[in-house]
Amino acid sequence: MIVAIDGPAASGKGTLARLLARHYGLAYLDTGSLYRAVGQAVLTSGKDPHDETAALEAALSLDTGHIDEKAIRTAEAGNASSIVAAMQPVRDAILDFQRNFAENPPNGEKGAVLDGRDIGTVVCPDADVKLFITASPEVRAHRRWLELNHSGSDIAETQVLADVRERDRRDAERATSPMRPADDAHLLDTSNLSIETAFDAAVAIIDGSMS
Ligand code: C5P
Repeated sequence: MIVAIDGPAASGKGTLARLLARHYGLAYLDTGSLYRAVGQAVLTSGKDPHDETAALEAALSLDTGHIDEKAIRTAEAGNASSIVAAMQPVRDAILDFQRNFAENPPNGEKGAVLDGRDIGTVVCPDADVKLFITASPEVRAHRRWLELNHSGSDIAETQVLADVRERDRRDAERATSPMRPADDAHLLDTSNLSIETAFDAAVAIIDGSMS
């Protein structure tokens, strides 16, 4: 069983994906963390995320088992990730890892939930169920600001909103694997939903599609 969950930054897709994986007993892969790790590695090496050679080098040497979860969650890593994610060679370098995770989930799990931007369209076009999670930019920026604030950042909410809009634009307008709902994806707008309500709605969609 493969569940593909796509959507823009801070739409709630990560939290939902994690809860759904636990509910159905599936493995979980946050594919955004791979692009974040590549973006962060380029920044750490002192290079510019627009530098394609540096980005590809970072993607090819990515150690998926040792991603620094704290370092990749900063606003800078988020912005760098969407710059490197627009490069086809970077995407190609981590495509097999994602597909292999979906087809051969770790620890003998019977399937996987993957979340990202192109799971339903490119990585797992044959997924059993596809969800596209949205929320208004303001709601998403507020959620992301609370997270950043909680982890010690003093970034202003207006800056987070500007970053969210810029990241949406870059992710949706890029030529390679742009963020978009697959034709057969179920749309779920979480702007006015608590996480519990969003979870119940997602379970209803998944159970309905599997029966
Ligand atoms: O999901 P998250 O916001 O952590 O993703 C960080 C960035 O990685 C996104 O802005 C996007 O540019 C990129 N990404 C992608 N394709 C995916 C997952 C993430 O291009 N499947």
